[in-house]
Amino acid sequence: MDEESVTSVGLTTSKAPRMEVTTMLCKEICEDCGKLFIGGANAYFCPECRIRRQRESAKRRNLSQIGINARKKKRGDNDA
Ligand SMILES: [Zn+2]
Repeated sequence: MDEESVTSVGLTTSKAPRMEVTTMLCKEICEDCGKLFIGGANAYFCPECRIRRQRESAKRRNLSQIGINARKKKRGDNDA
């Protein structure tokens, strides 16, 4: 979102170049939450669910998170 606002600030004609992008994207229904979103042909999840799934799978990968949590706790104790 920050990138978007930066781009439109830089462009004096913010209307014209958008159309090309819009025609390439199409409406998709999120397979997770059923929400309608604009995405590419091979997008199956809305941006929110995609991020959430990424986060979840990352969490699953880091099942050794216990060690990370322990480290965080230690750091938190130092702060407090
Ligand atoms: Zn979704």
